[in-house]
Amino acid sequence: MQNSPTITIIGAGVSGLCAAIHLKNSGFTAQIYEAHNHVGGRVATDFLNDMILDHGFQVLLDAYPAAQEFLDLKALDLVKFSPGAYIFCDGKKSTVGDPTRDPSFLLTVAFSKVGSIKDKFKIFTLSRKLKQKSLQEIFEAKEQTTLSYLQEAGFSEKMISNFFKPFYAGIFLEDELQTSSRMFEFVFKMFAEGSATLPKNGIAAIPKQLASHVSEDQIHLDQSVSRVAGSQITMADGSKLESDYSIIAAQADRLVPNLPISNMKWHEVTVLYFNTANSGFKKPIIGLVSAENTLCNNFHFLQDVFEGHEKVVSVSVVKEYDYKITELSDRVRMEMKEHCDIGLGEMIHSKIIKKALPDLKNINYSMNPTETQLTENVYLAGDQLSNGSLNAAMLNGKAAAQAVIDKIEGKVVVG
Ligand SMILES: Cc1cc2nc3c(=O)[nH]c(=O)nc-3n(C[C@H](O)[C@H](O)[C@H](O)COP(=O)(O)OP(=O)(O)OC[C@H]3O[C@@H](n4cnc5c(N)ncnc54)[C@H](O)[C@@H]3O)c2cc1C
Repeated sequence: MQNSPTITIIGAGVSGLCAAIHLKNSGFTAQIYEAHNHVGGRVATDFLNDMILDHGFQVLLDAYPAAQEFLDLKALDLVKFSPGAYIFCDGKKSTVGDPTRDPSFLLTVAFSKVGSIKDKFKIFTLSRKLKQKSLQEIFEAKEQTTLSYLQEAGFSEKMISNFFKPFYAGIFLEDELQTSSRMFEFVFKMFAEGSATLPKNGIAAIPKQLASHVSEDQIHLDQSVSRVAGSQITMADGSKLESDYSIIAAQADRLVPNLPISNMKWHEVTVLYFNTANSGFKKPIIGLVSAENTLCNNFHFLQDVFEGHEKVVSVSVVKEYDYKITELSDRVRMEMKEHCDIGLGEMIHSKIIKKALPDLKNINYSMNPTETQLTENVYLAGDQLSNGSLNAAMLNGKAAAQAVIDKIEGKVVVG
């Protein structure tokens, strides 16, 4: 396109990449500046001796509408997790699962002591109700904490503490079910309509695929932006760029002058990888530790998910702790033995993710393009504008890009 306006995207996370893709699909080219040496932001994988070690246990829910729009799910070669979980407490294992989708759960769930018969019936009716509820209805519904929502829905305290708390702690990255009931309904609906999946090469295959849709020379890695003022962008090294439009697909408050510092809180998670002699569950399924006062939240065996991975367990810790990582690994070893009867050997890798999910009190599904405009020519994207999910990150990237396109094409209605 001749005399095309310059568009700059700050941040090559999932949101920034989707903004670039949407612009490209509409005939515009953006330059992306990324502070780190890789694309994907929070969606990252370390490779250690060919082992796939994701930065925290995160899954792609394949029912996400945005995933279907932006990703070639087939090419990602997704491994589906079983629609259920093994729940461990004091050395005993129970099962929660959806027997209508995986018949192997039929007997185990029927006899599981996780909740009452009434709870099992309620799960079934909730699933049916949320499948019928539209996303719009979910995000317009009254907001309350997930805990009060579940209590109001009549689930027993046993079901809440044995299943919902540990299961959703691993998703919300907080263990008190204080996250908005809208997010609970959204995630539950996505689980009911699809599967929790992981690309067979690890979670970072998602941003890698997204980045493959834009030209390599559009992505500038190791280029941290320190300020965005009007059409001037100042890089961390002091150099300056001019850009007609900027999309900040990262936290904006420290980049844009006169913006109040938001002091946004974040949920943190630590993931630890251990060798083990245990041969796994023989299918991709999540293990949950539901005992009180434990730090371990969820775990899975890598060999159940990734080809060629032998005897490695990934354990996530969501609760706050006051240990050094070696002390934490000792504690995790002890808890895994006591509650799950799984012996862990050497810790081979760990990652503390301080800013994993934004702690948002009022959440929405995604932004409208007009809502993403911050100043005359600066726009915002990122999951933190709506809800902590890949779906929101993708949609908000698209919304900001669409707002820029509308501005360029003179479609913005003022007043
Ligand atoms: C452990 C964990 C588990 C999760 N689990 C799930 C899950 O199961 N399902 C799900 O849907 N979502 C999950 N998420 C959330 C999901 O990863 C995020 O919603 C999504 O990655 C957010 O993308 P983003 O582009 O908005 O932000 P980010 O990924 O944070 O991207 C922002 C980018 O901007 C860059 N940047 C920041 N400042 C600057 C600067 N000054 N200059 C240049 N670049 C800058 C950053 O380096 C980064 O690359 C999880 C996240 C974590 C960490």
